[in-house]
Amino acid sequence: MSLIGKRVKDIPAGACYRSGSRIICKPEEDKFVDLEQLPFPDFDDFVSSYRSHAFKSPINLSMEVGRGCWWGKCAFCGFNSLCKDYRLISDRRFVETIEYLAQRHNILNFQFVDNIAPPRIDKLAKAIAASPYDFKWMISLRANTPPAVIQLLAKAGAKHLFFGIESFSTSVLTRMKKGTTLLDNILSLKEAHRVGIHTPYFLLTQFPGETKTEVRRTKEVNRLIPHLNMLSLESPFYVNYGCPTQQEPHRYGLEHVSPSPFYTWLLPKEYRFSPTYLWDYSPKSRRKPLIAPLQDPTLHEAKLEILDRGPTSSVVVDTRWTSLEYTISQQERDVLIACDTPKSLEELGCSNTMLKLLMKKKLIPKSIILDGNLL
Ligand code: SF4
Repeated sequence: MSLIGKRVKDIPAGACYRSGSRIICKPEEDKFVDLEQLPFPDFDDFVSSYRSHAFKSPINLSMEVGRGCWWGKCAFCGFNSLCKDYRLISDRRFVETIEYLAQRHNILNFQFVDNIAPPRIDKLAKAIAASPYDFKWMISLRANTPPAVIQLLAKAGAKHLFFGIESFSTSVLTRMKKGTTLLDNILSLKEAHRVGIHTPYFLLTQFPGETKTEVRRTKEVNRLIPHLNMLSLESPFYVNYGCPTQQEPHRYGLEHVSPSPFYTWLLPKEYRFSPTYLWDYSPKSRRKPLIAPLQDPTLHEAKLEILDRGPTSSVVVDTRWTSLEYTISQQERDVLIACDTPKSLEELGCSNTMLKLLMKKKLIPKSIILDGNLL
């Protein structure tokens, strides 16, 4: 709804407007909106405006299942710093809402723009799958989502999942308080890829204290998985208002944490320490990209798969970098198939010579074995 030229009488809590030379703010209310009681969202203006332009990409409607973040621990995260409490709409009401929008606008594509998928995304996926509409949607979720849940999401129409990957070094993930490991990251990407879901992801580099070995680990693993990697983007670490690194900088070895200097140009002095989003700190990050830019993923399809050619003959097709084919023995095949789910070395029960051979062919990544697990 455009407010241009209209008199503003009532504005929502937390919003500000200008009246002549005065800025008038309506203070935040301390209570949350009950998402269950909200009316269906009104996308009429957006849809008609979008359709009046010749955009090539199909229209997507943005919806939220919940607000805030139920995990709420990641050390770098400044999302919801002022209202972290998590609240969500019921599965029934959510599906009713997207069905209403589908019917009203003849649109089936949705972006669920939650900070993080609800803890029982499996229940929501079942409710979406039970709808007569063939929805296609995306959502962000934690990388330790079990494979069975990722399969449910695929059945319910998930086409893109943004996993909170951040790093391929378990020690960095632990310091970030992500609650995930390198193995979780690989397994979630792998399962999503297997069921046909695209998974672009971010790597958050230069987290305070990240060592050269940890950086090498992330680079190395990222380089080994172009077949699981639709698009990886790198974002250097920043301090945002409200994130744990801003609230307790000394725990992360940071000093002189203060709002970025450009705020002195933007805000009167009394507001400079109120929620300004970007903060400076020392020691400064290197601001140097660590991840080599990916080749255009459409140029060649990166694959790593076993093809059986007869009862005793198998090959590995490896097009991750160039096109390679390895003939493998039945024993090697059995080890690789067994490695499809995580196993300890004892469970795998294969010789060190065999493992070294598979590592040499880069069919088993050394870095992942060093974490105490096999991919
Ligand atoms: S990064 Fe995601 S999971 Fe972590 S606290 Fe922020 S919103 Fe929650």
